[in-house]
Amino acid sequence: MSDIINILPDSVANQIAAGEVVDRPASAVKELMENALDAGATEIQLIVKDAGRTLIQVIDNGCGMSDCDARLCFERHATSKIHKADDLFAIHTMGFRGEALASIAAVAQVEMKSRQCDRELGTQIIIEGSEVKDQSPCNCPTGTSISVKNLFFNIPARRNFLKKDSIELNHIEEVFKRVALPNHNVAFSFHHNGRLLYDLKAGNFAQRIAGLFGNNHKERLYHIEEQTEPVKIFGYVGKAEYARRVRGEQYLFVNGRFIKHIGLSAAIEKAYSELIPEHTYPAYFVLMEVDPQKLDVNIHPTKTEVRFIDEHIIFAILRAATKKALGQFSLATELEFNPSTEIDFTPAAKGYMPPEPKVTYNPDYNPFSERRTTGGEHNSSLRFSPQPTERVKMAEYEHFFDTTPKEPDVSQLPLAGESAAVPSTTTNTASPINYLSKYIITTLKSGIVIIDQQRAHERILYERLLAERAKGNAPAQQLLFPVNCIFNPADSELLTEIMPDLEQLGFIISALGENTFVVTATPVDVKEDELQSLLEQTICDYKGNMMQKFADRDKSICLSLARQMAAKSGTALKPEEMQQIIADLFCCQAPNISPSGKRTMFIIGEQELNEKLK
Ligand code: ADP
Ligand code: MG
Repeated sequence: MSDIINILPDSVANQIAAGEVVDRPASAVKELMENALDAGATEIQLIVKDAGRTLIQVIDNGCGMSDCDARLCFERHATSKIHKADDLFAIHTMGFRGEALASIAAVAQVEMKSRQCDRELGTQIIIEGSEVKDQSPCNCPTGTSISVKNLFFNIPARRNFLKKDSIELNHIEEVFKRVALPNHNVAFSFHHNGRLLYDLKAGNFAQRIAGLFGNNHKERLYHIEEQTEPVKIFGYVGKAEYARRVRGEQYLFVNGRFIKHIGLSAAIEKAYSELIPEHTYPAYFVLMEVDPQKLDVNIHPTKTEVRFIDEHIIFAILRAATKKALGQFSLATELEFNPSTEIDFTPAAKGYMPPEPKVTYNPDYNPFSERRTTGGEHNSSLRFSPQPTERVKMAEYEHFFDTTPKEPDVSQLPLAGESAAVPSTTTNTASPINYLSKYIITTLKSGIVIIDQQRAHERILYERLLAERAKGNAPAQQLLFPVNCIFNPADSELLTEIMPDLEQLGFIISALGENTFVVTATPVDVKEDELQSLLEQTICDYKGNMMQKFADRDKSICLSLARQMAAKSGTALKPEEMQQIIADLFCCQAPNISPSGKRTMFIIGEQELNEKLK
């Protein structure tokens, strides 16, 4: 038999290897931006066309490359960052494997111009599918500009695999945020299809957060800081009331690199337990510094997973630091300390001495007393944190929370439309009871009915919204005063995308300018002061569903709104509100199950009662 083994040509080997490093435009953006940072740039511009399909260009003012390096950098294992294996243990830069540029050049048409500051002329190199087409001297500013055109031009299968532009752009924006956040001393800009999405000046971490996520973030965060030997922590954690149902704005960095770490995320989230409802997640932006020797270097540079040697210690410190930030500040609010706990995002003028905070406290205040002794209305900013008196009461219910009902077995529940468990009549004489501000207890012909108020209301609103959406006649309530809502550029794009859907549900929203929208009408039941957060959460849910390819966009938006508009557990209901929920629930197509698939009610019939009381 003849020989059958071939050595693959370099270009093919590079293409295969490229798949590991560059799987979509966002990964090329990440590599190029990290290279610019490693080159010591203080200004980095990102220019993208068609979500990176047509062009990704990164321009930096870093150290630039010599003629020879400009050619070499596209070779596999070409790196200036390590020379020997030992160097691996003291990595301070983003890249070190020397794979990124070789990979990018294997799957795109690349044009690079680079000049070192002590040279008069720079060098330009054009390379397509690993093949150098031209290298010549050129005039260019100090630094490097790399244009990556027609990514995957030579791998049609991969190019066809790219998602639609809004999704790819979302990935790019996410990468941009992950790189720009920890490098707040570097100025960044980001243009997409000629539109300036972000223009970030060099500044402190808080200013960078505001630049990326909007100025209104300043009211939503607490400062967190801890200097210890194993880890130095600095950053901001979200106030409990802004917790969201999806893990959205959660950013953890180690030595300037974005990381995903289930344990450390849990450390932060654990600090919130009892402050936020179950299945909601706080925002956080946390920078950590750890001795590089104590990090596991055996990690792939494109991956975000890391391992620490002192993992359990770091976990404990991070949790304690978060608790401190939350505890200190929420306690301060409760004790009515005067100064605002918000972070001032504007830098202090040189020589400015901050005034000593004045403490006004009530000497008669006794946190253990049932009766509130202060005169004024207590104004806690933590919506989910119980008031002092409630906290005492809460203790009585602790056993109750421990025995939270298990997920119902959905297979045991009647199907949508089926009404086996629905009482034959809903006429009831007794007025319902609002037990724990969570359950509605009433009697019907078929027995005692215990309804979960939040889940029931979600079901009612969900079906109402879907029906109105289908008919296209959702009633809108005109707002007395239009409300302006401001979003970050990424969210603004998404809001524009779902605006037609929202309009069919009763919203009237129009764009007012860069990232600002004015809302003049909303569906009934939407509270004006919650409009901004309602829209933010809707966008956030939509983004999440889009990423997970939630099949039905209508349903996803209606579900998101229903969940937010529903009367939450813990909200005391008036008798007429309870009556309304009972009546509306039994008119639903699937009254027994919440739109998220949980049981909404429980009926104990006479026979069952007799059994129990035998
Ligand atoms: P790595 O970053 O892992 O070293 P890359 O393929 O990303 O590998 O880059 C190869 C080399 O090219 C780098 O080590 C660096 O010396 C040089 N280089 C890449 N981008 C730039 C840039 N923007 N400015 C200066 N040098 C660069
Ligand atoms: Mg690199």
